[in-house]
Amino acid sequence: MKLACLGMVLLLGAALSRAAPQELYPSIAPGYVPSAASDEVGLWTELEDYERAIRRSALRVRDPGLNAYVQKVLCRVSGEYCQDLRLYLIRNPHFNASMTANGIVQVWTGLLMRVSSEDELAAVLGHELAHYTQLHSLEQIRRATAAMTTGSIFDMSLLILTGVNLPAGQMTAIASVMSFSRADESEADLLGTRFMVEGGYDPRAAARVWDTIVAEEKRAVAKREEPGIFSKTHPSSDERVEDLREYVAAHYPDVSEDPEGRERHVKVLSQHYGFLMEDQIDTNRYGRTEDMLERHRKLGVDDSLIEFYYGEMYRQRDGEGDREKALKSYLLAGKANPPVAEAYLQLGYMYMKLGDAAAARASFETYLLLEPESDERAMIEFYLEDL
Ligand SMILES: [Zn+2]
Repeated sequence: MKLACLGMVLLLGAALSRAAPQELYPSIAPGYVPSAASDEVGLWTELEDYERAIRRSALRVRDPGLNAYVQKVLCRVSGEYCQDLRLYLIRNPHFNASMTANGIVQVWTGLLMRVSSEDELAAVLGHELAHYTQLHSLEQIRRATAAMTTGSIFDMSLLILTGVNLPAGQMTAIASVMSFSRADESEADLLGTRFMVEGGYDPRAAARVWDTIVAEEKRAVAKREEPGIFSKTHPSSDERVEDLREYVAAHYPDVSEDPEGRERHVKVLSQHYGFLMEDQIDTNRYGRTEDMLERHRKLGVDDSLIEFYYGEMYRQRDGEGDREKALKSYLLAGKANPPVAEAYLQLGYMYMKLGDAAAARASFETYLLLEPESDERAMIEFYLEDL
């Protein structure tokens, strides 16, 4: 029975371009382990080495609240498969998520910054779960192993884990080995929506999230910024998104979005906005950062936070006119209710550099009023003596 299902799914996968597909089913059952005679056993062993490295990685986000949020969505979307999956939240500002054949789930923080609701997060996890249940992830790792003359999956996967610093050419080479076929992508898209619906999520969120990613990559290419790793391993297109929309409209016409899922996501985002947005700004991809800030503003992230990080972005970019823009943004963040204390600290430094002693003094004093326990207190008091 199981094998028959698998055969059917594979046949459908091959024919899935624009034709309306039939129902899709997972190919493996929860609790799946490879049979002893299969080459999977060796691959799993290599993946275990990799997992030990991830577990120890300094890039892991250990915040319990943030982990619990993603874990809950993962379990809702994966149902009984949840017991086979181990979530690792990775501090990396780029968009990526993956599931290996043995159940290592990686979610990069850049994903949390790009989805606008719990449904959209569930869409990406559902898509990855489908790559896992259809054994696409296994095929991916087999291909990668065959393509490598030296090194191991372990080395290569670590490169991807920390890929943010890889030269573009090397990243492209790895991504091309690791990428899924078009048929696999379509199958993962459609089966992913089934997992979403079973988890109580709105499957229409899937097309929305891919729209966001496709649009971001198009703008990035127009601005000559490198496409992200996820786009390289998961070839996306407007056509794929259109197929997904049609499929959801035909199969799940009556499901609607849970507005509380949007609120919960925005709340989690706002709570952790500091390190998430700092990491994004540090990519020096200012076009993407600006688009993201605007999107978050519309979503309902506190205006004061948005203004503060506009200030941070302008200060770091430091192009023509950016200093004035940074001052303006920090002032807005400082005047918001509640104010961002840190904005006054930055204003103090900026005014000091500009030689405006009175404004610098006022800013530093306001900062200390708002943050009396600040670690920078001694330093600021030292400056204040000279102002
Ligand atoms: Zn994919």
